[in-house]
Amino acid sequence: MSFETLGLSSPLLRALADLGYTQPTEIQQQAIPHVLEGRDVLAGAQTGTGKTAAFALPLLQRLAAGTPAQSKRPRALVLTPTRELAAQVQESVREYGKQLRIRSTTVFGGVGMMPQVEALRRGVDILVATPGRLIDHLGQGTIDLSQVEVLVLDEADRMLDMGFLPAIRRILAKLPTKRQSLLFSATFAEPIRELAQQFLNDPVEIQVETRNSTVAMIEHVVYPVESARKRDLLLHVLSEDSRRQTLVFSRTKHGADRLVRQLEAAGHRAAAIHGNKSQGARTKALGDFKSGRITTLVATDIAARGIDIDQLPTVINFDLPMVAEDYVHRIGRTGRNGSTGHAISLVSQDEAGQLRDIHRLIGREIPQQTVPGFEPAQALRLGGPLPRPAGSARPQQRRGSSGRPGGGRPGGGRPGSGGTAKPSSPSASQPRRAQGGERAR
Ligand code: AMP
Repeated sequence: MSFETLGLSSPLLRALADLGYTQPTEIQQQAIPHVLEGRDVLAGAQTGTGKTAAFALPLLQRLAAGTPAQSKRPRALVLTPTRELAAQVQESVREYGKQLRIRSTTVFGGVGMMPQVEALRRGVDILVATPGRLIDHLGQGTIDLSQVEVLVLDEADRMLDMGFLPAIRRILAKLPTKRQSLLFSATFAEPIRELAQQFLNDPVEIQVETRNSTVAMIEHVVYPVESARKRDLLLHVLSEDSRRQTLVFSRTKHGADRLVRQLEAAGHRAAAIHGNKSQGARTKALGDFKSGRITTLVATDIAARGIDIDQLPTVINFDLPMVAEDYVHRIGRTGRNGSTGHAISLVSQDEAGQLRDIHRLIGREIPQQTVPGFEPAQALRLGGPLPRPAGSARPQQRRGSSGRPGGGRPGGGRPGSGGTAKPSSPSASQPRRAQGGERAR
């Protein structure tokens, strides 16, 4: 199959020839005709599959046929999780569209606002943006999304991992309902399905072979425990394999510091990162953790943003976050680059409400396992059955999910019905994956 047979126009074909692209990739073959037709698309494809061209080429063709954008009113919006991806996508848009009169720009944080305001004022057809900075522009009235004809959510799963769901909702509320929407994601876990159900209109579903090297398995488990015994349980879990790199989340800065003192007193090499630490101290702690000089890093949610450590096997939630989205963000730190990650949460009865919120957000219950010697006086009570997310079916039964164990309620597991676990030996417990394994990035 060639790019010509996909129905692309000659200015685009010339640009592709200049770039040396001879054959469309699988995602391009599957997606381009549908996008050109104006259909909504839900596409399972990762970086490296050629997904950017799969949406950028038909997008450029569609926009080239219409009238140029007015001041502050982009005609297409591409949302990406990171600045780097936004810059990369816009660079591709620029290259593919170099024979067309289509203007594009990026909007992301960490750089000055004014050049972005100026570019938006002059008028751009395609805006590539990260959610946070785009919301800033919306707040300041420097952008108007009412003329957006096409929306692309790129690496949507990563955006959810990074806690952008509320921001995405706010942005989507500003878009016209009559539009074309395209959602690209490496995985089709339940939150992505929900997003697609809410924001796509009768989408065509496409799934191309994923490269397993970048898709990881995260095993989630809850250890019920009395709150007064959490510290001992943490020490117990860590002592099972003191060489393993573990990121521990604490809700408060004070709690993080106290934990580090206790860990050090017990002979662990640990450090804390949180908002009261200087940038120098944070950089040092992170460097020491990455080099293996310390094995346990205790972090608060804010300080952990942006921590990207390959092969981080274990995340332990010493306390559950107040905001459920932060759970997803926390566990997004593990199980990267094809490795299996373990997300262990130490949960006391006073956190039952937070655990319920997390279950609601991720669309399933995390299996519970009691640790011998740390059983709470009473089984963890979550207060009633977990409502299934609206309109959801069991993910295993959905088409296009490539048979991955995408979640669902763990094998009839009711709160308190989980097995008994040896703590911190999750790698030895393969059956647990069948219960609670979830593919995530
Ligand atoms: P992406 O998955 O969009 O990040 O693309 C991965 C890389 O593949 C990028 O460097 C693209 O320039 C390149 N690429 C995309 N489509 C093609 C194609 N049809 N032929 C050759 N290279 C491509």
